[in-house]
Amino acid sequence: MTNLVTSFLSTANASPTATAVRLGAQALTYAELENAARRVAGLLIHRGIKPGDSVAIMVPKIVAFPALYYGILLAGGVVVPMNPLLKNREVAYYLGDSGAKLVFAWHAVALEAQAGALEAHTSVVEVDESFVGSISAAPLTDVVDRDEDDTAVILYTSGTTGHPKGAELTHFNLRRNADRFAHDWLKLSAADVVLGCLPLFHTFGQTVSMNCTLFSGATLVLLPQFTGDLALDAIEKEKVTIFAGVPTMYSAMAEAPGSADADASTLRLCCSGGAALPLDTLTSFEDTFHTVIIEGYGLSETSPVCCFNPPEGDRKIGSVGLPLDGVEMRVINDDGETLQPGELGEICVRGENVMKGYLGRPTATAEAFIDGWFRTGDIGKTDDDGYFYIVDRKKSLIIRGGYNIYPREVEEVLYEHPDIVEAAVIGIPHPTLGEEVGAAIAVRPGTTVETAAISEFVKARLAAYKYPRHVWVLDELPKGPTGKILRREVQPPATPAEAH
Ligand code: AMP
Repeated sequence: MTNLVTSFLSTANASPTATAVRLGAQALTYAELENAARRVAGLLIHRGIKPGDSVAIMVPKIVAFPALYYGILLAGGVVVPMNPLLKNREVAYYLGDSGAKLVFAWHAVALEAQAGALEAHTSVVEVDESFVGSISAAPLTDVVDRDEDDTAVILYTSGTTGHPKGAELTHFNLRRNADRFAHDWLKLSAADVVLGCLPLFHTFGQTVSMNCTLFSGATLVLLPQFTGDLALDAIEKEKVTIFAGVPTMYSAMAEAPGSADADASTLRLCCSGGAALPLDTLTSFEDTFHTVIIEGYGLSETSPVCCFNPPEGDRKIGSVGLPLDGVEMRVINDDGETLQPGELGEICVRGENVMKGYLGRPTATAEAFIDGWFRTGDIGKTDDDGYFYIVDRKKSLIIRGGYNIYPREVEEVLYEHPDIVEAAVIGIPHPTLGEEVGAAIAVRPGTTVETAAISEFVKARLAAYKYPRHVWVLDELPKGPTGKILRREVQPPATPAEAH
């Protein structure tokens, strides 16, 4: 029997009375979560779901989420996690593209989902806060068998361009990646309490919260809304030991009004991924809370973890660490040749974590691979010890008058400025240079900055062609559902103030 759900079932069997998931006053033990998942599976079988059928989950972070996730897998279905904030047209696209037979939709968005689902010929099961207690279907006592190469989850990702594509991740991909990350890196045990801040429909939240945590007998504490203060409160009250988040979460906690009084002494490890962790964010978080952040790297297409810094001893700040066992990484040039340490090229990945392909898109799948290696679209390098460094997305490269500028390098300098809390550097079309460097920033509440002075600040620290000639201040930068800053959504002002 090879099914992602079997790893969860063996934990549930070993520690039935331990708390599996909690949100406020609502909690489920492992036995209760297993029972709920088995009833979800019973409901799906009753509704005619067959092995390999796609079933979508479009609900926020609630205790029912893992019951739906494992229930679909128990019934032999394929999970399609969707952002509950999607609108009608997007819902129809995701459901239609994945061919989902059924969608579990949160009550507040059910109407929106109904319209999209109707268009996609998908039936809707409404989910509300009391869902777990209200499933009347008889529990499925068995597990519907699947091959390890069968798709378990379809994760929609925009990749570098175009419409979101469904990355097909197999039972083997997800189980092995979570097992290795949970045991080799996080060293999770039943004594751990993991704070689930990341959305569960995203690859990072899925792996850490639903797979790593629930394969280890640890407790998952869900935080429905993220702010720095809410996260710090939860860490203190719930005695959280593991925190996983994107860099903006770490800066929000370090900057939170309550940070000076927060007791985060139970944290034994924090891990950052999804975007580059600015050095300034790392040091201010670690200095404030006396804990350690390890940074790693991954993508939806790679289940997601490719590499991580070792938690003990050998961490290299600024690096995304070493590949997990079973994962190979290399850096290639445009001809597909492997580059030497220190040379910049595209990062490619091969191994047990790499997706089968994009659902129903043979051309996009073929383009995503070179000689069996997955092309990440990220530019990076290695060092002599085999540690990896991400420089930027290939697509984000700014070419100004023939010179290459990686936005991340400029952003790192902006984050060194004491008043800047968020920064995104983008290329702005320029008639003679091709592109000019622009920087959108958000500043610490209550402070004001001179944009010309910001340009000067960067100019004093980087080669002259790299500093932003246009700087503008926003209340907050556009972010994706995980809290990652979305450079592609940053627009320059209609008439950007020419700083220099
Ligand atoms: P997603 O599929 O949404 O998880 O996005 C994956 C992308 O996030 C990668 O292709 C990288 O561009 C970016 N990413 C993930 N981790 C890091 C990191 N530690 N540093 C820089 N970029 C990262």
